[in-house]
Amino acid sequence: MNIIISSIDYILNWSRANSLWPLTFATSCCGIEMMQTVASDNDIARFGSEVFRGSPRQADLLICAGTITYKMAPVLLMLYEQMPEPKYVIAMGACTCGGGMFAETSYSVVNGIDKIIPVDIYLPMCPPRPEALIDAIRKLQDKIKKESVLHRKEFVNAHTSALKENNKMLEVKGGA
Ligand code: SF4
Repeated sequence: MNIIISSIDYILNWSRANSLWPLTFATSCCGIEMMQTVASDNDIARFGSEVFRGSPRQADLLICAGTITYKMAPVLLMLYEQMPEPKYVIAMGACTCGGGMFAETSYSVVNGIDKIIPVDIYLPMCPPRPEALIDAIRKLQDKIKKESVLHRKEFVNAHTSALKENNKMLEVKGGA
């Protein structure tokens, strides 16, 4: 039985890892570097990830590029929930990973999107260069190739309660 599951995992993971379709989503300056990653100099088509989709229902990779404010947080959550499983998240930039330069001075910036959605790969820096984003995508590919369908479920479920708790917090701050 284990041999069958391992073989199915291997085939599914190999195809998923090599055909990640990112959602077109950027909120500030990091988005410019994300756009540059698709251009010919960097060309993420080499890794099967150039098909940026306009709809979350056709995407399986959310590259969150830029600052997320409390006002924007429910939109991020909605987009994530509309993506079909299995779905993956790269937090791109210091602001996305932990609030960046706004972490201690701004009342409106969420200090890390992992308070809203589960994050697979953290990519700090301000801003990360396209080469760094490509490296993050390669690391995500490695992660996908190693994981099992069962472990993926555990990973997502581990974040469910935190996500709901923080969603309540977001409603309070968003309305303030
Ligand atoms: S990490 Fe730097 S470049 Fe990226 S959104 Fe924040 S301020 Fe802009």
